[in-house]
Amino acid sequence: MRGSGCDNIDVVKVVVSACLLGLPVRYNGKDKKTNHPVLERWIGEGRVVSVCPEVLGGLGTPRPPAEIIHVGGVRRVHANDGRDVTAEFEQGAADALEQAIRHGAPVAILKEGSPSCGSTYVYDGTFTGARVDGEGVAAALFRRYGVRVFSEDDLDAAAEYVAALDRRT
Ligand code: SF4
Repeated sequence: MRGSGCDNIDVVKVVVSACLLGLPVRYNGKDKKTNHPVLERWIGEGRVVSVCPEVLGGLGTPRPPAEIIHVGGVRRVHANDGRDVTAEFEQGAADALEQAIRHGAPVAILKEGSPSCGSTYVYDGTFTGARVDGEGVAAALFRRYGVRVFSEDDLDAAAEYVAALDRRT
């Protein structure tokens, strides 16, 4: 039955960055909870699948901040302590995608600007706060596998997209 549970198998599922749901999983040990009514409604409808790619990849919380760089055209992720964390980010992205597939979620709301979850911009690898157009490791993987990615800044458009999917099911 639609809209009646916390894990409703009869509705279109939506993967959501765990930090947007209030889980303190960010690099600094804090959350980025958004109280947007669309997200609140989706939680009530049992649509939401919470994931944190960086935690899934085995990184602790708190952890050093990380940014994406390109070395010889190859994407790497490095932390501000100099450690290369590309493998952890890629593993976490794969695990997050696996969760989306397992739940049949065709849509994801991912935290903008993150080296994992950013969908329109990320930081430029200099740890100076400078932004560049681009996407995080998990967002890129989700898109490659056909999951439609929105940021928390685009929840109204995401709601329209999910409603259109609902009408088709
Ligand atoms: S990896 Fe994504 S879900 Fe996890 S803290 Fe960073 S932005 Fe949030």
